Amino acid sequence: MSLETSNYIGGTHGTGTGPEQTVIDPSTGQTVWTYTADDESTVAAAISAARAAFPEWSGATPAERSAALYALHTELEAMAEDLAQAETSQTGKPIRLAREFDVPGSVDNVAFFAGAARHLPGHATAEYSGDHTSSIRREAIGVVGSISPWNYPLQMAVWKILPAIAAGNTIVLKPAEVTPLTTLMLAQACDRTGMPAGVVNIVNGPGPLTGEAIVSSPHIAMTSFTGSTTVGRHIAGLAAVNGTRLHLELGGKAPFVVFDDADLDAAIHGAVAASLINTGQDCTAATRAYVHRSRFDDFVSGVAELMASVRLGVPTDPDTDQGPLVSFRQRDKVAAMVERAVQAGARALTGGRAPGGDLATGAYYEPTLIVDAEQKSEIVQDEVFGPVLAALPFDSDDEALELANDTPFGLAASAWTTNVFRAQEAARRISAGTVWINDHIPIISEMPHGGMKASGYGKDMSTYSFEEYTQVKHVMADLTGATAKEWHRTIFGLR
Ligand code: NDP
Repeated sequence: MSLETSNYIGGTHGTGTGPEQTVIDPSTGQTVWTYTADDESTVAAAISAARAAFPEWSGATPAERSAALYALHTELEAMAEDLAQAETSQTGKPIRLAREFDVPGSVDNVAFFAGAARHLPGHATAEYSGDHTSSIRREAIGVVGSISPWNYPLQMAVWKILPAIAAGNTIVLKPAEVTPLTTLMLAQACDRTGMPAGVVNIVNGPGPLTGEAIVSSPHIAMTSFTGSTTVGRHIAGLAAVNGTRLHLELGGKAPFVVFDDADLDAAIHGAVAASLINTGQDCTAATRAYVHRSRFDDFVSGVAELMASVRLGVPTDPDTDQGPLVSFRQRDKVAAMVERAVQAGARALTGGRAPGGDLATGAYYEPTLIVDAEQKSEIVQDEVFGPVLAALPFDSDDEALELANDTPFGLAASAWTTNVFRAQEAARRISAGTVWINDHIPIISEMPHGGMKASGYGKDMSTYSFEEYTQVKHVMADLTGATAKEWHRTIFGLR
């Protein structure tokens, strides 16, 4: 891709006039790209472009919008390998993950919304009052202001942009300042496929500058955010000033509950994969394993052994299982949390440190299994966002489900059991937007993703996301033609 420009506004690629930013390859610490951030003036131009494009785009037929999205899908499919390479270079994620998860997942999501654009859900038109015909119009909202995180940059941009524009909105999106590349490539794809100017606009720069300029604008109709709970709450405050609609996908602290009848080998494999995916920088990653006391020792020794076999390495090597964290800042945050846990009495059964040797120059951290941590401790309660799993024993099903619900978060969870009744009970009682049974992590475009409690509200993916990106209008038409309607008696009495 050409990296000469750093924003995409009204169908034109350009550059910002704000402070200089660098994109770092976290596996080496080397600079991959530098760009100038977009400040208030460029953000205002992007919002103007999105407003100008809204009437025509929202007035297009669903089939016309669908055709534009299918063209984007075809273009992205052709760019798959370039997208995977760029994603790996800016995040440090293993190329295998970028090729097999990030990029195909994103491309599939575009295909899903190309189809869904023609199938907005609604209620039947009918005479719910005998004297009127009621019908529902599901309408686009306007300009969506969106902010996405660094953990899955392309996928998160797609999750934000596609349902919004499929429903007829236009959008201004800012990716995380450290990972702008694949979102800009997505903008290039929009341009090449002839997406009308101003439908998709991309700006880049730091959250407090570029992000706040979007969220504070009185000209956006909705804010859609994925990131930390702290920033999400701050953004909610800014959005409240203008009364802007909000969709928040925030942090997670997913429990992983292993009952005494679980297939232990499957649970061990599941726990390692689900805690280490994307180097643990996944809001649904397994972070707290609650294991029945009778299986606890076998579980933790199996997990520790399997974690120790995970190959850390250069992200571009297809044999690498786990790359560095996204930044040295994030690596240091993870290391500090593990250190505090150990100081408080927990033990790292494996990992608990940054590797030396060839990997010492990157933001690497070893897969880490923590035991002997207290339920109320930071490592069990707060999001680590790194390759760290804490394991705690429980004695009864009730205790397990209470512990699973005992954090502020509610994004995802899993239950491991061969008993169908236990599985159903866990699914019913755990407060989380997704509950897996005997698996943990898979997502699919047709099904919703979103949180409960401090993990936010609103859904990404699936046609449920149209609830966020559309507004429903009730049209009620009189059928009687009468001058004095029946209900007028409340005003005029029986005259
Ligand atoms: P943030 O919440 O800070 O970042 C997410 C997005 O919000 C980024 O685009 C960021 O921009 C932007 N942002 C930051 N501050 C503001 C602001 N004041 N106004 C508007 N936008 C803002 O997450 P971090 O990247 O700092 O990561 C910290 C923690 O967040 C992680 O450790 C993890 O706990 C959680 N997280 C959760 C994710 C999820 O999917 N649920 C994804 C990523 C992080 P920029 O980075 O450019 O400043």
